Amino acid sequence: MDHINELKDLLSFPQRIAITMHQKPDGDAIGSALGLYHYLVKKGHSVTVVSPTDYADHLKWMPGTPKVLIGPNDPDRAKWAFDGADLIFCLDFNALYRLQDFEASVKDSAATKIMIDHHPDPAGFEDIGFLDTTASSTAEMVYRMIDALGDKELVDKDMAEPLYAGIMTDTGSFRFTNTSAEVHRIVSHLIDVGVEVHPVHEAIFSSFRPERLKFLGHCLLNCLTILPEYKTAYIKLEKEVFKEFNVKSGETEGLVNYALSIKDINLGVLMTAQDDIIKMSFRSRGEVSSSDLAKEFDGGGHFYAAGGKSKSSMEEAEQKLLASLEARKAVLES
Ligand code: 5GP
Ligand code: MN
Repeated sequence: MDHINELKDLLSFPQRIAITMHQKPDGDAIGSALGLYHYLVKKGHSVTVVSPTDYADHLKWMPGTPKVLIGPNDPDRAKWAFDGADLIFCLDFNALYRLQDFEASVKDSAATKIMIDHHPDPAGFEDIGFLDTTASSTAEMVYRMIDALGDKELVDKDMAEPLYAGIMTDTGSFRFTNTSAEVHRIVSHLIDVGVEVHPVHEAIFSSFRPERLKFLGHCLLNCLTILPEYKTAYIKLEKEVFKEFNVKSGETEGLVNYALSIKDINLGVLMTAQDDIIKMSFRSRGEVSSSDLAKEFDGGGHFYAAGGKSKSSMEEAEQKLLASLEARKAVLES
């Protein structure tokens, strides 16, 4: 691993450390952060985890959860954590705009910024970067970093549970194309040190509010459009739907995968009306690049999972999507 000796030197004496991740953290963002948190605390550092926004309840069971500072709930403390840090670990993102309201706090901090991430096209804000676009997840990279620092034997249940959750969610429960033999070797070690697989899966996938399930039913019944000619299915969510079903932050996660679960569909899209943008999520298979599509919508991501946005009405975003589909019809049909 590049820069590992540099990092080893930086961690050879007690440091004040902030760990942060992209806004609306998913299982990998929060799991990698908490796995790293427990490791750094065990090594004698003073560590604060700051999330730029709140996140989904089904991720709030991990060891260390009460220690996560939700930025908007206490912005002064969050800014102070970045300002007063010697090191800031930036996990699961590679461009500072993904920190939303805390972009400037991290940018302006004199701390050494260490990025650990698996997304392509890094913006280059970091002082030390660990970037591996072939890694299944940032949690996998945190595990490999701990191993490369010679501390594999320090991995305990508190570190292992969040790391397992991160790897599990970013690999779609070990079924996406990023699920390597190495992933299974790492996970087997995490289980060896105490992860109980069943409760983790239950906590993440069997803890839905009844409203969330009804919302899912509504989305599939009333908001899904299937376009066999483009081998594409997309779900369109207007703002009113969120009010009607009292949808909470993070509860649209996984929805886009339903679009891609239809036979002979190569592209799934979720269009969500937010405050002043339409948020676009793309999932694909085969030759179809989600990241290429996301770039047309001011975004980016992985080849098979990416996101972007449109500062337009839903109708205009939909028209733009249809034009993008027409332009790549040959690939979609492949
Ligand atoms: P999701 O569709 O779950 O929001 O995001 C899928 C993937 O695309 C994630 O890996 C995420 O980091 C990336 N992504 C989502 N939205 C954006 C965006 O606005 N810009 C960039 N660069 N990547 C995004
Ligand atoms: Mn990730």
